[in-house]
Amino acid sequence: MTNIDLSSSELDVLVETLERALNELNREIAETENPEYRQMLATKDHVLRTILQSLPKNIPIQVLKETNVIGGMRVSRRLGRSLAVNVIPRKVCPLDCIYCETGRTSLLTDERRAYIEPDVVIAQLRSFLREYRGSIDHLTLSASGEPTLNSKLGEIIAGIRGISAIPVAILTNGVLLHRDDVRWSLMDADVVLPSLDAVSEPVFRLVNRPHAHLSAGDLIDGLTAFRSEYTGQIWLEILIVRGFNDFSEELEKLAKAVERIQPDRIHLNTVVRTPVERFARPADIEVINRFRERLGPRCSVL
Ligand code: SF4
Repeated sequence: MTNIDLSSSELDVLVETLERALNELNREIAETENPEYRQMLATKDHVLRTILQSLPKNIPIQVLKETNVIGGMRVSRRLGRSLAVNVIPRKVCPLDCIYCETGRTSLLTDERRAYIEPDVVIAQLRSFLREYRGSIDHLTLSASGEPTLNSKLGEIIAGIRGISAIPVAILTNGVLLHRDDVRWSLMDADVVLPSLDAVSEPVFRLVNRPHAHLSAGDLIDGLTAFRSEYTGQIWLEILIVRGFNDFSEELEKLAKAVERIQPDRIHLNTVVRTPVERFARPADIEVINRFRERLGPRCSVL
């Protein structure tokens, strides 16, 4: 690998050019009906993203400034009345999923850091709970960034336990669970809700557009190891996207992976809210229902 020195304005031009090329590729991916051509385009997309990720990039200061620890109350079928607690700046994530409803990932990274310190989280949560008069079923970390990227997640959960008896839920894409430190940081949570959308590496890259260090194989190994160590509830979500992971061969691989992982519950979902990429479309309900039957009584459709 050769190092090339670029001024910051040259770097901006390079980033803009790569992003334009990626947008063009995404348009082509959306339009093609040919799976082999789509696969070839996905390989190009992966190469360009890998180059983009290797360029120096910091979290924009504005993104950090805009991060509110208390993300608001939501009502969901899985978690009831759930208060979002952000422990990561918005859209700092190791994935850039085509169906994401919170926009493009602003920093694609697998680097764990104390993005938000535990005392900041606990102080803001304590003051919210002191004022709030309604009921809360779960405190949910984190809605719009990947919570396991916070290297002090274990301390944050312990701090929450110190000020509240409300059950703690973790919404995670699960891609860092192959790391021991990440699994141990989650041991005190009441319920962990990881995602798994693909088993085949090309499908994983197409749907989840991961950081270059990550793989579907590591994701499944991490989930399996976590199941063997963690005694709380694991509710696995699988999101099916039309034309990407809804074909029978991939669904059968997903079913086999679920047998390995042994989650307590499985939730099937598809693209419902506006996705970041317009080519991410909902799967047929018949496909989803057949897959639900294949996965058995622990599985329900969201
Ligand atoms: S893991 Fe979640 S937050 Fe990250 S890109 Fe995917 S859907 Fe969005």
